[in-house]
Amino acid sequence: MLRQFREGQVSRETICDADFLLVTAGHYHGEPAEYPCPVCGGDNLRIVLWVYGEQIGKASGSARNEEEIRKLVDNGRECTVHTVEVCPDCKWNHLLKAETASAR
Ligand SMILES: [Zn+2]
Repeated sequence: MLRQFREGQVSRETICDADFLLVTAGHYHGEPAEYPCPVCGGDNLRIVLWVYGEQIGKASGSARNEEEIRKLVDNGRECTVHTVEVCPDCKWNHLLKAETASAR
């Protein structure tokens, strides 16, 4: 996707569509990324962890930090964690990885 953007095949509006909720979550729950935004070069890029799953009830679909996720998967529960880049400046957002979290 990013390569297509650099080559001019995809407009910035297409890839920079982070909604208000995502940008806000990035601000409050995200960790600063250690690199600039790949689209606008801004240094406000955040890494946000989103959790999903039936077993975690109403926490599903919210942004959480690693400690909160550890508590969520206590008692043998599982959830899916999406690691997402969010740029508050240009609204770039990108799913870096999706993985299953569970208590060890
Ligand atoms: Zn940006």
